[in-house]
Amino acid sequence: MALVSTRQLLDEAAKGGYGVGAFNVNDMEQIQAIMWAAKETQSPVIIQASRGARKFAEDNYLYHLMLAAAELNPDIPLAMHLDHGNSYETCESAIKLGFTSVMMDGSLKADGKTPATFEENVEVTRKVVDYAHERGVSVEGEIGVLGGIEDGHGAGGSGLDHVTDPDQAVEFAELTGVDSLAIAIGTSHGAYKFTKKPDGSVLKMDLLLAIHKRLPNTHLVMHGSSSVPKDLQDIINQYGGKLKETWGVPVEEIQLGIKNGVRKINVDTDNRLAITGAIRKVFAESPEKFDPRDYLTPARAAMQKVVAQRMVQFGQAGHAGDYKAISIPDMAKGYASGLLVTKPLVAAK
Ligand SMILES: [Zn+2]
Repeated sequence: MALVSTRQLLDEAAKGGYGVGAFNVNDMEQIQAIMWAAKETQSPVIIQASRGARKFAEDNYLYHLMLAAAELNPDIPLAMHLDHGNSYETCESAIKLGFTSVMMDGSLKADGKTPATFEENVEVTRKVVDYAHERGVSVEGEIGVLGGIEDGHGAGGSGLDHVTDPDQAVEFAELTGVDSLAIAIGTSHGAYKFTKKPDGSVLKMDLLLAIHKRLPNTHLVMHGSSSVPKDLQDIINQYGGKLKETWGVPVEEIQLGIKNGVRKINVDTDNRLAITGAIRKVFAESPEKFDPRDYLTPARAAMQKVVAQRMVQFGQAGHAGDYKAISIPDMAKGYASGLLVTKPLVAAK
């Protein structure tokens, strides 16, 4: 199966009532870990790269690694997604490179730090949607601002500073025609999301439910949704790391989200923790080793294990063979003919 669009993956996920994990990558080992987990669990999957990843790996390496992933796994629907595009130009360059899906994060200005106005967000997102849909590429928008900073992108601060307003979410979806919508419900990027197990005062699942009620057919996206499990933190600290105690988004809250319109779940930190813990363990137990394969092999295996777990928990496991891939040119035709609806269904308050 060639690379497919995120829109198709999420439309199918909505039909099947499950969520699809979107896992961040920077190198070959991470891409392999995800594809091996997808094969093991027979899951459709989204691999995503941030601007930081594109800089680290270089666009051409990244793109050809993704093509290799698609080539080696003809039975796995795979979308290649740009995470947190900061401007029209960034999205355009990703689409020209071959990404099948982009996020235009217009919740922040192009500096990736300063919150933008609603009007600015609508304008730049609409422009990206027009360009992307003409080429069959899917677009994720963001309304409300997430907390924390990841890869230099983010407003910082708490996830509660700019949570999504449901009325604005409706207006934004109508004005932009995005294929999916990232919302801010109290989560943050990075490892330090919550200082205790989150309850409704910091993780606003009620807000998610309210947005889903108004936009019942819109694919919602949860960012900053690593669970930051204690066992992964413990391995790092057991072998000389110094992580401060922290809590992520509990898997059962994500599963509640999936029952209420969440179709894409972004996970990065959990994989970073798994990799680092495995490498630290080898360094601590076998300080005489110096072949990178001695620590990258267990690191890759540790990430594969976490990804496979999430695929089962999100419900995407077993769904790889449910449907036939729609090519990106055919997606373009679908948008042009109006067959792929981009006007959201809006329910009364
Ligand atoms: Zn994010």
